[in-house]
Amino acid sequence: MSGFNTKLVHGKPQKDNHTGAVNVPIYNSSTYIYPTVDAKLPYDYARSGNPTRNYLEDQVAELEGGYQGFAFSSGSAAIHAVLSIFSPGDHIIIGKEIYGGTFRLINQFFKRWQLEFTAVDTQNIEEVEQAIKPNTKAIYFESFTNPLLKVTSVKAISQVAQANHLLTIVDNTFLTPYLQKPLDLGADVVVHSATKYLSGHSDVIAGVVVVKNKALADKVYFNQNSIGATLSPEDSNLVRRGIQTLAVRMDRHLSNTQKIVEFLQGRPEIARIYYPSIAGTKDHEIAAKETRGFGGIVSFELQDGLDSTKFVEGTKLIQLAVSLGAVESLIELPYKMTHVELSPDEQLKAGITHQLVRLSVGIEDVSDLINDLKQSLDKLN
Ligand SMILES: *Cc1c(COP(=O)(O)O)cnc(C)c1O
Repeated sequence: MSGFNTKLVHGKPQKDNHTGAVNVPIYNSSTYIYPTVDAKLPYDYARSGNPTRNYLEDQVAELEGGYQGFAFSSGSAAIHAVLSIFSPGDHIIIGKEIYGGTFRLINQFFKRWQLEFTAVDTQNIEEVEQAIKPNTKAIYFESFTNPLLKVTSVKAISQVAQANHLLTIVDNTFLTPYLQKPLDLGADVVVHSATKYLSGHSDVIAGVVVVKNKALADKVYFNQNSIGATLSPEDSNLVRRGIQTLAVRMDRHLSNTQKIVEFLQGRPEIARIYYPSIAGTKDHEIAAKETRGFGGIVSFELQDGLDSTKFVEGTKLIQLAVSLGAVESLIELPYKMTHVELSPDEQLKAGITHQLVRLSVGIEDVSDLINDLKQSLDKLN
C-alpha cells in the first residue's frame, strides 16, 4: 500500500472517468436515471449518495484507517449525526473542555431528548472510570482541547471504554490524521470539523465522520441520509482539494508554531504558554507518545496589567478572527470571542482568563509572524 502522503494526493480511482480528468468531477445532479424501474443503482438521489461526496468520504476513511467515511455540511452536523445513534436514557461521558458548539448541542439539544451526560477531566482516567454508570454507552472527547491544549490519551481512554463495552468517539479536528489516528489507538469513531485543517483555506464549512466497522457505518449512514445535513458536491470538492496538501501545510504549521513558542518564551510580556511541545507536563508526555507533532495552535497568557485587547487588535498580518487551522494566521481573545458563552465563573474554572490569547499559526514566513507579534507586544509597554 502507498504511504500517507501519496494517499493524500491520490484518492480511490473513479470508475466512471471517460475524459482522463485527474480529479473527480463535481457532480451537480440531484437525481439519477433508472434504466428500468427495478434497477439497483449505485446512486439514485444525491442526499443518499453523490460521487463527489463519496470520493471525499472514501478519502477520509482511508486516511483515518477506518471502515467508512461520511461528509456533512458542518462539523456540528457531523457530531449531531454521531450522537443521534444513541437513544433516550443513554449516558455519555464527555470531556469537560470540549468545543463550545458541541457542548451546546449536548447540553441544550440532546438533553431535551433524554440523553444523559457527565463532563469529566478525560486526562484523569480514574475520574473517567468513576463516571461510568450502567447506562453509559460512550466516551466523547478531543485529544487536544481548545484553547488550553490539554492532552488526553486516546489509548488509555479506549482501553477503559473497551473494558466497559463503551464506544470511544474522538474529535480529531486539531490534529488531523497526519498527526494522530485515533482509530489506530483504539477509538471507534472519529469526527472532524473539516472547516479547519482538512480543508485548510477558510473557504468552506464542513464536517466528516469516520467509523471503525460496518455496524457503526450503518447507523451513521442512516442518520446522514435521514437527517440530511450532507455536504454539497462543490464543498466536497473544496475539502478534497484541501486534503491533498494537508501534510505540507501541517509540516509548516508545526515548524512555524514551534519557532513562535520559542520566541514567546523569550518575551517578558508572556506569563504562560500552552503548547504540548513544552516538556515537563502530562500533556507533553502523552502527546509525545501518541502524536507525530504538537499541532498549529498555541495559547498564551499576557502578564497581568498588559492590555490583551490592545495586543490582539495590534497585530497587522495576523488577523483578528475566530476559527483556526487555515493557511493564514488568526488570533483571538477566547474570553470575549470563542468562549463568550461561558459565564465569567465558568471561564475562570476552565482557565480562560482575560489575559489568554489563542493563536492559530498559519503557513506564512515565520519571521513575518514573529515580527508582527513583536511589534504588537512592543506597543504594550
Ligand atoms: C470548529 C469545531 C467544531 C465545529 O465545527 P463546525 O464546522 O464549525 O460546525 C467542532 N469541534 C472542534 C474541535 C472545532 O474546532
